[in-house]
Amino acid sequence: MADLDIVTVRTPTAVCYLVRGEAPYLVDTNTPKAGKKVMGAITGSGLRPGDIRYILITHYHYDHTGNLAQLKKAGGARVAAGERDAEVIAGRKPPAGPGDISPAGRLLRKLPASLLERYQHFDPCEVDLALRDGDVLEELGLEVLELPGHTEGGVAYYHEEKKLAFIGDMVSNILNRLGPPFLSFSYDKEAILGSMRRLAELDLEYAYPGHGVVIGPGAAEKIGRLADKLASRWGAA
Ligand SMILES: [Zn+2]
Repeated sequence: MADLDIVTVRTPTAVCYLVRGEAPYLVDTNTPKAGKKVMGAITGSGLRPGDIRYILITHYHYDHTGNLAQLKKAGGARVAAGERDAEVIAGRKPPAGPGDISPAGRLLRKLPASLLERYQHFDPCEVDLALRDGDVLEELGLEVLELPGHTEGGVAYYHEEKKLAFIGDMVSNILNRLGPPFLSFSYDKEAILGSMRRLAELDLEYAYPGHGVVIGPGAAEKIGRLADKLASRWGAA
């Protein structure tokens, strides 16, 4: 079977993906400022917004949900996200804001909430499919994996047959260097290590991150090595 036909939409801040085929879908939607670029990837592929069947969100941060409401409105795609992030995406629960597991996060927590809100703002959008671990999006051949630690309801979308996954921020690959999610906006190092180890146990050749470039081949092994390295750096098991 052929590989997935994936178009990468990259900005300096984040990466999102358009997967073409019989049931086209987006994984994340980049920052609010990237609206034209995301739309350009869709129309440049000969698609209309209405052709996008699903928008899969890895987690609620603004650099992943920045164009979600607009794209949903333009085309009516079904929006999917982890159950525990869905209420934030819908605007009924405030985002957690900076976490206290890093010095930078602790510093950011002292800033006025209004300033952070303005920076992190995205237009809220109802989630049609609130996903839990093990859920399957059959039409797309994807399985849902809950990956807590960065946001509570962060998820990856795993295509077992193709040995690839869209992993959101759980592992980044910036300048060819694997790294953890942005710790200032994460809440639990142990949970991050657990989530990474979960990815490392998959039959996974290629991991598509929300920041940086594709990880792989051998993504599972590379992520496992990162988890080991971080565990000793963070002093955890
Ligand atoms: Zn994030």
